[in-house]
Amino acid sequence: MALKPNNLQVYNTLTRSKERFEPLDPPHVGMYVCGPTVYGDAHIGHAKSYVSFDVIVRYLRHLGYNVRYVQNITDVGHLTDDADQGEDKVERKARAEQVHPMQIAEKFTRSYFEDMDRLNLLRPDISPRASGHIIEQIELVRRLIAAGHAYEAGGNVYFDVASWPKYGKLSGRSVEEMVSGTRVETAADKRAPADFALWKRAEPGHIMQWPSPWGAGYPGWHLECSAMSMKYLGESFDIHGGGMENQFPHHEDEIAQAEAATGKPFVKYWLHNNMVTVGGQKMGKSLGNFITLKDAFKKWDPMVLRLFILQSHYRSPLDFSDEALGAAKEGYQRLVTAMKSLCRALGQGDLPSIDEAAYNRAKAEALTKLLEADASLSAGESLDSGLAQMINAAKAEALAKRPQTDARLSAGESLDSGLAQMINAVKTAILAGAPMTGGPDLKVTELVSDARRRFSTAMDDDFNTAGAIALLFDLAREANRVVAAGSATRGTLETFATAMRELAGDVLGLSLESAGAGATEGVTSALVQSMIDLRKEARAAKNFALADSIRKRLDEIGIVLEDTPEGTQWRFR
Ligand SMILES: [Zn+2]
Repeated sequence: MALKPNNLQVYNTLTRSKERFEPLDPPHVGMYVCGPTVYGDAHIGHAKSYVSFDVIVRYLRHLGYNVRYVQNITDVGHLTDDADQGEDKVERKARAEQVHPMQIAEKFTRSYFEDMDRLNLLRPDISPRASGHIIEQIELVRRLIAAGHAYEAGGNVYFDVASWPKYGKLSGRSVEEMVSGTRVETAADKRAPADFALWKRAEPGHIMQWPSPWGAGYPGWHLECSAMSMKYLGESFDIHGGGMENQFPHHEDEIAQAEAATGKPFVKYWLHNNMVTVGGQKMGKSLGNFITLKDAFKKWDPMVLRLFILQSHYRSPLDFSDEALGAAKEGYQRLVTAMKSLCRALGQGDLPSIDEAAYNRAKAEALTKLLEADASLSAGESLDSGLAQMINAAKAEALAKRPQTDARLSAGESLDSGLAQMINAVKTAILAGAPMTGGPDLKVTELVSDARRRFSTAMDDDFNTAGAIALLFDLAREANRVVAAGSATRGTLETFATAMRELAGDVLGLSLESAGAGATEGVTSALVQSMIDLRKEARAAKNFALADSIRKRLDEIGIVLEDTPEGTQWRFR
């Protein structure tokens, strides 16, 4: 995909200002986001962070950038206290559960991806684990010692903050301020209180340890992000993301480690997302106002949660309450309803048609208008969307030539064709069931083009998803109006549906057509139940061959029937 001209501005924590986004090597974008420490289930705070960065990746790709998205998994070295003290969080949890630390890391890595998948996040391109990059981390420590920016003391290695005058440039703190903010006693072997651990000596009983030139030990938490981001994105890359609370010490230390070793600027744009609050108070384990995603999903559709998160800016705090989620649920329903009514209308065969000549005239007129509009615009947006319309119209015409598929199969046929075919038939009926005629209404084309432009303007302003969502609601309202009027052509409906799919679905990751997993699950259950009913009828009629065939066919697609005294139950194998 070609890079679209754009006016993207991003807020850079490093300069404390919005800057024009200009990657080091366009169209490539290297992006690193600090991932989870895997010692517990992800909570709503994680969802805010990773949904925000997911939309940033999606929008960059929408603009045509070739993004390499790296997000690490911290499975070793993250201590319970920021100041190089306390226990390893993963090891502490493992001790409590009497299992190996890597079991904890594996369990909660899987749990993390499960939750993020449900929130419809794109998986990172690379998810490197700290424990899998010990060699790279040891190598970085050696470079820092060789360059005179680190020193060894009794099996520990510390970064010498005094040796690197730029320390503090991200957080804007002076060394004195940093030290006074330290809650615990300074380790006796440090030269200065602000120095931080690159490598920690393993105390007796510490399980997660590796041999190193300085004896058995494990890496300091900050080290992995410098080592792994540079391994996969190069010594200088475009975007580094993370939570605001990680500006100091984590990100400050990442910069020091990388830049002191390479002598090159580490990251061009630092992006930080804000926290989730409850009644204005930070959500956190220690405060007891902590909600895991697994619990939240019992109450709220993951897409409702996603919309709720995106209705505030990523740099603003997000206050969690049942009322706010309730409002997001209503908003999500509005979008789903609009999309559903568009799909339903598109599935009907009686859409008004217009004659070929009139259609071609309208197409030509639309193109002329679009070209005129384009001349007065700096960005190529309107021409692009014009072409998209043309492609859609051509697609619609091609589909029109396909014979209409009958979604409703009689019982006998359905037995022969099987459940998979029934599902296909239903899909076909929804997507392409009716003969297609009619191009998009010019007014609608303009209206949708305008909505797309305003959507881009919002997103270009440091990823203003709240503004972008407001436009989706406008679009949904217009779509409802057009559908209700009952005279829309297929092209008009397609224009709306395409815009909704692209802006809500592709860019914001809001899946509207599955209407939460519930809708699909509902259809599947109903289909399986109807097969069970047919099998029961077949047995009642002593047609055991047919009854067995039904069970066998369901089994082939992974659905297992179990006859119990309460009737036939089913489950996925
Ligand atoms: Zn990090």
